[in-house]
Amino acid sequence: MTYTIQNAIDGKLVDSQSDRTQPVFNPATGEVIGTLPLSPVSEVEAAVASAKAAFPAWHATPPLKRARVMFKFLELLNANADKLARELSREHGKTHDDALGEVQRGLEVVEFACGIPQLLKGEFSRNVGPGIDSYGDRQALGVVAGITPFNFPAMVPMWMYPIAIACGNTFVLKPSERDPSAPMFAWELLQEAGLPPGVMNIVHGDKTCVDALLDHKDVKAISFVGSTPIAEYVYARGTAAGKRVQALGGAKNHMIVMPDADMDQAADALMGAGFGSAGERCMAISVAVPIGAETGEKLVNALKPKVEALKVGPSTDPDAEMGPVITAEAKQRISGLIDSGVAQGADLVVDGRGLELQGYEDGYFLGGTLFDKVEPEMDIYKTEIFGPVLSVLSPQTYDSAVDLINDHEYGNGTAIFTRDGDAARDFADRIEVGMVGINVPIPVPVAYHSFGGWKRSAFGDHAIYGPEGVRFYTRLKTVTQRWPDGIAKGASFSFPS
Ligand code: NAD
Repeated sequence: MTYTIQNAIDGKLVDSQSDRTQPVFNPATGEVIGTLPLSPVSEVEAAVASAKAAFPAWHATPPLKRARVMFKFLELLNANADKLARELSREHGKTHDDALGEVQRGLEVVEFACGIPQLLKGEFSRNVGPGIDSYGDRQALGVVAGITPFNFPAMVPMWMYPIAIACGNTFVLKPSERDPSAPMFAWELLQEAGLPPGVMNIVHGDKTCVDALLDHKDVKAISFVGSTPIAEYVYARGTAAGKRVQALGGAKNHMIVMPDADMDQAADALMGAGFGSAGERCMAISVAVPIGAETGEKLVNALKPKVEALKVGPSTDPDAEMGPVITAEAKQRISGLIDSGVAQGADLVVDGRGLELQGYEDGYFLGGTLFDKVEPEMDIYKTEIFGPVLSVLSPQTYDSAVDLINDHEYGNGTAIFTRDGDAARDFADRIEVGMVGINVPIPVPVAYHSFGGWKRSAFGDHAIYGPEGVRFYTRLKTVTQRWPDGIAKGASFSFPS
């Protein structure tokens, strides 16, 4: 039995009228489990029209009442976390524990959004002039849209819509084509939580839908998360259409291991950060940078047996540490990059190609792969592989490691493992990367901070979720008011001095 994904427009689940569709796969088996419509422009227009119609009443709803919907949504998410995790693993392939972790990080943004009355409080200055007061507050933008990637089908949309909606906006989501069920499930919970029709809409599709959102005059802001070329495109086209855009892109995250670091601890951290979720995380560590040949040798010796022992399996296997990659094409692309690493002279310490799992021969599985002696010119270093491949480069000095990271086109996340506070502090100061971990391999900011990379990992001024999210989804209005006994004393042509 396969299922057909529906759109969610104006509080109802509706069949798309599109004659273009795309299969949804179970990446562990390679089976087609569903069909996704590639919706036409008219369906995007219907979703935007519904969101536009819902905006005035939702915006006028007191923040406290909007927060109550979020509280109820939070309660439902907690009660359904296990089901949501299973739903997303079925289409994404990640292990159940990892999926539960994803749901947890998403619902923490909902927890943050529950505090919206406090977050929207403005500022007030009495007597800015005789009998004049001034106040500023932040108001919602109107209809805003989100376009999201496959790798966190529940969490990344939740980086966006809970805050956007709590701020008083209405929302249109265009999720990834690969794993559309998790956001649909969350949408149903939102309806159960009492969200009025039209406040949250979902339209499935591809570039046609994305372009329709980017060009639509009634969409005031776009949040995008995905690969860098598309992020750049979305940013350019969205801003050219006069919209506020935040577009988060790809990554190549390095972790420096100083000679004084605990090597076992660093190796364990690299295992989780490099191979968790099969390396399909924008905050995955894909490059280990031990300082000096001796540290490099120690680290590779510590990593090799761990990578060889990685337990790969379907999400339904409770012992699996890593699932399949997302599609057959992704598997082929990653294998091709491993081939290129060998051809360009890197030392292939553990080869994950050709892994076969009994009973899952058609699944998109790869084993963990470890490269040593990687050079900056190699494709495996320059490219975001987005798979279970960890590269090791061992520069001679800490300073050259810092230069290496600063010279990379991406600047999403990075980490240093050391016992030296001075080195750690210097690293945090000098590194040109948006999110920095000190003895923390994946420094994803908690929900009440904000997430965002630098350089070609993010386009636009605002990071996502947390206080930056509130700023992104609102605009400042400042009112200067006087209630005099009479203001008609004649015009004034200069600022009062
Ligand atoms: P992707 O760029 O292929 O797709 C992202 C979204 O863009 C999808 O909704 C897709 O439908 C749409 N899209 C794809 N091609 C398009 C086109 N030509 N025109 C318009 N829209 C298009 O990304 P993906 O493969 O789903 O996700 C993986 C990527 O996302 C990785 O590069 C990863 O680093 C990145 N990512 C970044 C972050 C971050 O916070 N920086 C977080 C998660 C994922």
